[in-house]
Amino acid sequence: MKPASVPRREICCPHCDAPATSSKQLRLSDTAIELTYACSNPACGFRFIGVACAVRTLSLPAVFRPEGALPLDPALTRDELIKALQDSSVVRTAVRPPP
Ligand SMILES: [Zn+2]
Repeated sequence: MKPASVPRREICCPHCDAPATSSKQLRLSDTAIELTYACSNPACGFRFIGVACAVRTLSLPAVFRPEGALPLDPALTRDELIKALQDSSVVRTAVRPPP
């Protein structure tokens, strides 16, 4: 997979709790990236690999690709889902059965 350019991400170093910043990332799939982190604490110096991935749908997209489909979040109510389907011609077209 090709490397992608996105804003840096920061998490706590798992050893010293100092901020660790991602310096590069690798796209693993349509929903996951691998990130290379370096701890900002010079006394620690830990470098490690992390993963970020999309896991649940909070609202339906206006542009839908089947490769990006995720499970619905349990907090998404039936009424919100029906309203989103009624408001989106892209999604409505995708779920309509063939004539
Ligand atoms: Zn550290």
